Formats: sequence, C-alpha cells, structure tokens
Amino acid sequence: MTSSPTPSSNPSTQPFPNGTGRYAPSPSGDLHLGNLRTAILAWAMARRGGKPFYLRVEDLDRVRPGAAERQIADLAALGLDWNASPGASSETVNGREAGVLYQSTRLAAYEQAVAQLREANLVYECFCTRREIQEASSAPQGAYPGTCRELTEAQREERRAQRPPALRLRAECTSYTVQDDFYGAYTGLVDDFVLVRNDGAYAYNLTSVVDDAFVGVEQIVRGDDLLPSAPRQSYLAQLLGLAQPRYAHVPLALNTEGKRLAKRDGAVTLPQLREAGVEIPTILGWIAASIPVYNADGSAHSADVPVPNAAAILERFDPARMATEPWVVRDL
Ligand code: GLU
Repeated sequence: MTSSPTPSSNPSTQPFPNGTGRYAPSPSGDLHLGNLRTAILAWAMARRGGKPFYLRVEDLDRVRPGAAERQIADLAALGLDWNASPGASSETVNGREAGVLYQSTRLAAYEQAVAQLREANLVYECFCTRREIQEASSAPQGAYPGTCRELTEAQREERRAQRPPALRLRAECTSYTVQDDFYGAYTGLVDDFVLVRNDGAYAYNLTSVVDDAFVGVEQIVRGDDLLPSAPRQSYLAQLLGLAQPRYAHVPLALNTEGKRLAKRDGAVTLPQLREAGVEIPTILGWIAASIPVYNADGSAHSADVPVPNAAAILERFDPARMATEPWVVRDL
C-alpha cells in the first residue's frame, strides 16, 4: 500500500475546518468502493460547511472511452451534487458533462503556467530516460538526481537531436511542509519534478495545482496515496503565486490481504455490485459504517443498515470522529 505515516486523530483545532472542495478522478475505468468513499468524503467535507464542491475529470492521460460519463453517473446515483465549475461548459458537448471541468480543455492555462515558470528561470529540459534515472543512485529514493540541471546550451542542442526533452522544475528546496487535517504537518520530498513529459503531455503535479487554484479549491480531500505528492504541489503553487490549499488525505480501501482495493478483488464497482443485486442504499450503508458515522444514540452505524443517499451520511458526518485507519473491505 502506501508508505505514508499513520495519521494522528484530528490534530487540527476544533471546529474541524472546511472549504471549497473538489473530486478529481482519472477516467481510466469505473470507480471502485474506495474511490466512491473518497468522493463522498470530499463532498461531505465541503458541503458540511455549505461550501462549493466541483468535479474535475483528469483526462490528459489513461482515458478509457466512456469512463468519465460512467464515473459521473455513479457519483450522481449515490446522491452527490456539485456546482458548475468555473471554466466548465454550461452545456454537455462531445460527451463532456455540463458543469464539470475537463483538463483536456485547459491546455492554454497549463502552457501559461509553464511560461511563467520559464520566465523565472525555474524550468529546464531533461533528456534522461527512466532507466538512466533509476541507475543514478546518488539521489534520495524517488528523487530526480539533477543530471540535466546544469547542461550547457551546446550539450542540450546535441541531446535534442537524440530525444525530445521533458521539462522539469528547477526546485530551490528539497523538502516542503503542508498542513493536513488528518496527518497534521507533513514534510515531504521536493525534487526537480516533471512539468511537461517528453511526449508533450502536461504532468499531473502541474495540472492539478493550476486547476485547484483556478476554481478556488480551499481544501483538497483525496486518497492518502497522494500525500507524498502534496509537498511538491504546494511548493509549486507557491512558486506560481497561487493560494495554498489545505489538505485532508483520507485512508484508502484495502482488500482482506491488506493490499489496495482493485478491480480484481471481485464486485467492487457500482455497476458490478448492482449487477450482483446489491442496491445503492446497501453500498451506502457499508460506506457509512466505514467512515463511520454515528447514530443519535451514539453507536457507530452498522454496515448492515442501508442508507438512502449521500445526504443521510452528510447529516451525521463528523470529520473529527472519522476513522484514520484504512477501510478493509470484506466479503465481496
Ligand atoms: N486524478 C487523481 C486520481 O484519480 C487524483 C488527483 C487528486 O485528487 O489530486 O488518482
């Protein structure tokens, strides 16, 4: 699973903060139970304070045709609602749902951000192959060793003839600290990470930062597999002069072997579960128990009790009492 540390229980001060939120799936396939739970939490964290909540489809990479539409339909079926995102079309066009921001429509904004960084001399071309990076052992685990950082213009000219470059950030620090509502202060690695891949695609760490700031996200709620990315992203936001969001990374769903829940674990997506005769209130009952939400008498919600819709979870949702351990999904 993840190398993240164990979250402490609510290190923030009361009342638990909330803010404009978002859910930003990659349309690589149907959402599974863990993704659906994260989406509900992201929605509930924003909505409990009456804040806007946006959907963003991260469709620059790994796109499976029809997946975004299915993901959006699943979220609506659970009872989630979202605001029309700044920058989104007000009509459904070419299969792109009205009100949802699609990253494939945002290329000019990413280009502008890269131009801003270039202007500040914070970008350089990198010609390394993945193998070369793996073989350079001097850098800390997972960090780019800086091989191409100080190439001369003549050297770059020569390398360009062999291979198109990726663009990397010329980072001026090696670690950065973010505030996470579940993990507290989290310090993680910042290296010269990729902004634009060598096939020309804008990298996730760039696009998510640009888009979160563009729509005014104040609190990023997502799976804690992405916690190690938060320092890079927050640092980049600072370099671009953008507002720093808070973070609230939530534990992942695991299978009974303790591995991250995956499609091969059985019926784990909404269409699969419905096909198997499991209705939405039953699924929401499991998710309510996993959070958990609490009943009026103070008892935790039982996984056997159906919940009609996401609004019923929101009514009883208290992030200060949320489980900080992964959700182990049993018996599918
Ligand atoms: N698109 C990413 C994913 O599905 C999530 C990005 C984010 O929430 O920052 O894993």
